[in-house]
Amino acid sequence: MTIACRYCGTLEDVPPLAGAQVAICPVCDCRLERSNGRSITAALACAFATFMLLFPANLLPLMSVSMLGMTRRSRLGSGVIMLWHHHWVIVAALVAAFAVLAPFVRFGLLSLVLAMVHLGFRPHWLGRLFRWSMRLDHWAMPDVYLIGCMVGYGRLAAVLPVTIGAGGICLICAALLCMLSRATLDARTVWRQIHPEISPDTAEAAIGCEACGLALPATAEGSRCPRCALRLRARKPDAFVRTLALVIAGYVLLLPANIYPMSTDVQFGVRVPHRIVDGIEELFQAHLYPLGVLIFCTSIAIPLLKLLGLTWSLLSVRHPSSRHLVLKTRLCHFIDEIGRWSNVDVFTIAVFTPLLQFPGFVTTGASVGATAFILVVVFTMFASRTFDTRLMWDAALQTQATPAQTP
Ligand SMILES: [Zn+2]
Ligand SMILES: [Zn+2]
Repeated sequence: MTIACRYCGTLEDVPPLAGAQVAICPVCDCRLERSNGRSITAALACAFATFMLLFPANLLPLMSVSMLGMTRRSRLGSGVIMLWHHHWVIVAALVAAFAVLAPFVRFGLLSLVLAMVHLGFRPHWLGRLFRWSMRLDHWAMPDVYLIGCMVGYGRLAAVLPVTIGAGGICLICAALLCMLSRATLDARTVWRQIHPEISPDTAEAAIGCEACGLALPATAEGSRCPRCALRLRARKPDAFVRTLALVIAGYVLLLPANIYPMSTDVQFGVRVPHRIVDGIEELFQAHLYPLGVLIFCTSIAIPLLKLLGLTWSLLSVRHPSSRHLVLKTRLCHFIDEIGRWSNVDVFTIAVFTPLLQFPGFVTTGASVGATAFILVVVFTMFASRTFDTRLMWDAALQTQATPAQTP
């Protein structure tokens, strides 16, 4: 069966994998196909259980804090509403999209598609729905939100009594099942069930579908993929310019994200701003070393690595070189995978805000740094999605071909 490698564009003939096996692209060393030997039923059970658990996780209180006889509860939506009321609309809208909306749509669609495949129904729109659910995997973040809750819990429990509510337990289960459904889902098997792979004539040029990896004759460019209905392109359109614009925007916002406070507390009438570094310092002072290292990695190291890695990749399209091509491709793949984890710090603020509302004693809210930071995360996530690693391979191939063509 022919599969188009989405990282270097090479067409590979991969025999069906049996059991838990991985097929690696011999050109770029990235994963072509992974088979985990688990049935579609297991993935369906995990996806549907996650979907059902999202309801109580959203409706019931995640955590509660008591101080001087007053109790404050935090729900998934209450942080969003409070951020909105405090006029941090960009942060509120993005937290709502990643933590509330995207998980419902992602797991709702995935459950529907897997149930249809399991029951043997193959309507023509099934591939399109599966493509959408796979795209949303990146943006649905109950697992990242859970880590945000853990950081919030760690920081608060050091000074105040915190109780984990029923919603919190459901969120823990939903986040674990979200990770489990990612591990059990064998996307290639589902794609094959929706529409089998076709082997194009190896003698003619071929293109691969960006979403489902279906290899088709090059003449199909511009038409819709017969499996997932995505418009077929040899390379992502304007990938270089779009990625460059997003990376520049990321660099511009990185400075205010680190200079300005992410959140501001008002303690007995005194304003106490917290920048990213202050938050990390506080966690270390409270001897919460693992959480301090985690926030350093997610809020400082990962955004920097993403911007520098993408800059290196963009430079190698303009100044082609076949050196470190495999490393650069793997780096882009890694950047794309870890990008979503940078949201931990912003999610911590969303969890924190409804809990610490004791007017006259202590109140907290987001600050301008949070808007700048979440935009850095979103721009770099879009940049890694927009960038086409195949451009680096094309550019390197062209420079290798050029001396041979010159007389
Ligand atoms: Zn490859
Ligand atoms: Zn497709």
